[in-house]
Amino acid sequence: MQLSDAVTNLPGVGAKRAESLQSLGITTIEQLLTHYPFRYEDIKARALTEIQDQEKVTLRGIVVSPAVLSRFGYKKSRLQFRMMQEHDVFQVSFFNQPFLKEKIILSEEIAVYGKWDAKKKSLTGMKILSSGQQEEFAPIYHVNKSIRQTTLIQLIKAALEKYGDWIEENLPQSLLQKYRLLSRKEAIYAMHFPKDMQAHHQAKRRIIFEEFFIFQMQIQGLKYAEKSEKHGLMLAYDNDKLKAFIAQLPFELTAAQKRVTNEICRDMLSKKHMQRLLQGDVGSGKTVVAAICMYAAVTAGFQSALMVPTEILAQQHYQSLQQLFANTPVKIALLTGSTKAKEREQLLPQLKAGEIDIIVGTHALIQDEVDFSHLGLVITDEQHRFGVNQRKILREKGWRPDVLFMTATPIPRTLAITAYGEMDVSIIDELPAGRIPIETRWVLPKQLTATLDWAKSELAKGHQMYVICPLIEESEALDVENALKIYHELSQFYDPTYQVGLLHGRMKNAEKEAIMQQFKEKELQILVSTTVIEVGVNVPNATIMLIIDADRFGLAQLHQLRGRVGRGSQASYCILLANPKNEMGKERMKIMTETNNGFVLSEKDLALRGPGEVFGQRQSGIPLFGFADIVNDAHILEVAQQEAQAIWQINDWQVLPEYAPIQAYINAVQPNERFFD
Ligand code: ADP
Ligand code: MG
Repeated sequence: MQLSDAVTNLPGVGAKRAESLQSLGITTIEQLLTHYPFRYEDIKARALTEIQDQEKVTLRGIVVSPAVLSRFGYKKSRLQFRMMQEHDVFQVSFFNQPFLKEKIILSEEIAVYGKWDAKKKSLTGMKILSSGQQEEFAPIYHVNKSIRQTTLIQLIKAALEKYGDWIEENLPQSLLQKYRLLSRKEAIYAMHFPKDMQAHHQAKRRIIFEEFFIFQMQIQGLKYAEKSEKHGLMLAYDNDKLKAFIAQLPFELTAAQKRVTNEICRDMLSKKHMQRLLQGDVGSGKTVVAAICMYAAVTAGFQSALMVPTEILAQQHYQSLQQLFANTPVKIALLTGSTKAKEREQLLPQLKAGEIDIIVGTHALIQDEVDFSHLGLVITDEQHRFGVNQRKILREKGWRPDVLFMTATPIPRTLAITAYGEMDVSIIDELPAGRIPIETRWVLPKQLTATLDWAKSELAKGHQMYVICPLIEESEALDVENALKIYHELSQFYDPTYQVGLLHGRMKNAEKEAIMQQFKEKELQILVSTTVIEVGVNVPNATIMLIIDADRFGLAQLHQLRGRVGRGSQASYCILLANPKNEMGKERMKIMTETNNGFVLSEKDLALRGPGEVFGQRQSGIPLFGFADIVNDAHILEVAQQEAQAIWQINDWQVLPEYAPIQAYINAVQPNERFFD
């Protein structure tokens, strides 16, 4: 006997019932036992005097009238009797459960769980509890049409009876002691049938820890397999050249930039296959770090590729890299979807021959026809814009280059642990010195004119302004119309002193680039745009970011947009124009005005909206856990990760008796599909 036995080993489970259980994802005893209740009903018997109208309660009393069954039509029935508690008599009715009649015996004590109607002084019964009932809670499970609560409870009880002694511990003893966790057996019992709140709490703590810990053991296992089995490239860069390159940059690197550069260079130099996530708030200076690392690869004799999600961003990175590498012989090229066929025909053979050192581009870079001579480093910018699949294509490209993923959407630590668990993480947690914090204000739509008037004083100083119109999800055509309207209004408002430009998703790339160029060259002072400028655009002279209907954006997106200003040495402003309909909307606007820290924001956003809303579950690669919740149980997740890491760091931990149970358990369960889809 073992927990992996099929549920058909339980008495009363035949083919039909097995099928019902399977519809809940349950085929083995283990799965049945770990199908935990999602909530509990308080079934402690209560006194009539203390209960409220419409409350769900258990009432205990004596049956004082015989049960009368009336049937109406096919399958419908009502069972009625009276009960007495102390000296109060009340009516009890059960609907469509005629079989309960025989359990209602005159003059005997009974306990009924149901909903109380204070006006009618009657209880609509839901179930009769066994008379010896001691438990204070009844489990409630996720079920479906093919199986009922009571059936499931019976089956779980039967499974515990028959297999209870076969529930083995799967966590190391040292961890049970360290965190005072219940044994697996105790916890499983108490998850289903807790004695009281305290017992339930302890069981839950243990089960959550277990789920996270098993997951982390698997993830860390992947990471180690990656490191030991498949060696990556060794990029033996020229340290002197690298130092000289850093020394000639127009600014001193921040301490955080130095630290992450070292972390990345160390990975490149080693034979391990680098998979590193570089997180840094908007404006923290990730591009320079990328440039330094790509330069390092070049001095080691390798090519580098920088992949970004949009044409505009590719264009801009291309320009800033050209500037950064102006004093070096490094050869840079740009490849996007709109690269002309003729240019492309020239470029691809050069790339293949190794004549190009660094290539910047969009998805165009991962097409089959793009061949490198000796690609050593791949960097993706604005990582969150790429789906799990694109990440995989990159990772699985035959040549196994080192890979660096950069993101400016700070991911809360806990999510980084889960979504990017197989990666190492570097964080730039500091902005270049001399930046003045952006001042964020939330104003109501009726204050628009006043805001536009106020903006004149900034524009008069020669500064520039972005005006963002929201995406109306259903229709790009509507977005454009909306943006056009605002564009016309602003053009009129500022005519003839200031020039307004318009940028939207339906424009051709060449048009977009031309407008961006005009804005950069200050021919335009105001740029009205849909969110196409969301990522990465760098115009240090722009000091106002005005966001229309700001409540339509997620916090992370607002923060991204805000990051487009405050890039120079002047004071900058972010104005959120919004009239949120509900409290959560107001709360989000308020949070924006209170913090400039992207990490704090993303934690708050997650707490307010949950991971599914914030990231779009499937897309993001964030795993779903059975019972644990990555937001609410974040602290346990972190501890579980640390402990799993510590074990994987022990040489040959697999042969130590202490870890035999966890080893056996992990080998027995397939990496849970929901973790890795
Ligand atoms: P990110 O991509 O992280 O949002 P960027 O790399 O675009 O940020 O850098 C933002 C701006 O800060 C750029 O104009 C860049 O030249 C400048 N910058 C980067 N690092 C430093 C530094 N250490 N000191 C001063 N300015 C810096
Ligand atoms: Mg950037």
